[in-house]
Amino acid sequence: MRVLIAEDEHRLATWLVRALAQSGFQVDWVDDGRLVRRSLKQTAYDALILDLGLPGVGGHDVLAELRQADMRLPVLILTARDSLIERVSSLHEGADDFLAKPFEIAELEARLVALVRRARGTDRPRFACGPLLYDSGSKRFTLAHEPLALTPREHGVLRALIQRSGEPLSKQEILERVFSDGEDVQPDAIEVLVHRLRKRLQASPVGIRTLRGLGYVLECGE
Ligand code: CA
Repeated sequence: MRVLIAEDEHRLATWLVRALAQSGFQVDWVDDGRLVRRSLKQTAYDALILDLGLPGVGGHDVLAELRQADMRLPVLILTARDSLIERVSSLHEGADDFLAKPFEIAELEARLVALVRRARGTDRPRFACGPLLYDSGSKRFTLAHEPLALTPREHGVLRALIQRSGEPLSKQEILERVFSDGEDVQPDAIEVLVHRLRKRLQASPVGIRTLRGLGYVLECGE
């Protein structure tokens, strides 16, 4: 799970980055509201942890911009200003949850996981690409209504592709989404997995196309 933290208190942010990374999250950190949008464009995150009192562009404006752009990214607001008005207005602006400082890391993690699960479960419970379906609740693929048997790594790669259906994913992005930091996996391993997936899909109109210099894209057929 990849998370962006927007927080200008360096001590707090450093602690958060370390604690979340230890729990297996992939974490990036920016300390200025102006950097949030750029980071979100560059990288596909599963959630944003957003401090309201940010320099550059404030958290409220970052949030409003995100929602105007119709970005469904789950947002967890952090704020020292634990007032009811702040909380209500943040939720109205489209924050998904709210945590007042100081907080326990365990609570932050629990809320983060719940947010991402909820966002995946309600917004896009199923991903479809032609006859290929992925149910994010049961975490199973079916192809033309038949269960598709995949190894865990094949499953991870195909899931990453179907979640970005229509947009290319680079080998590096696939690596980051499928494998945890500790695993020693070379980008070439992705080629092998894609090759195996193509074989499993070959009887169907669904295919994985290589876009030179960009990566792989799932094509759903007619
Ligand atoms: Ca702040």
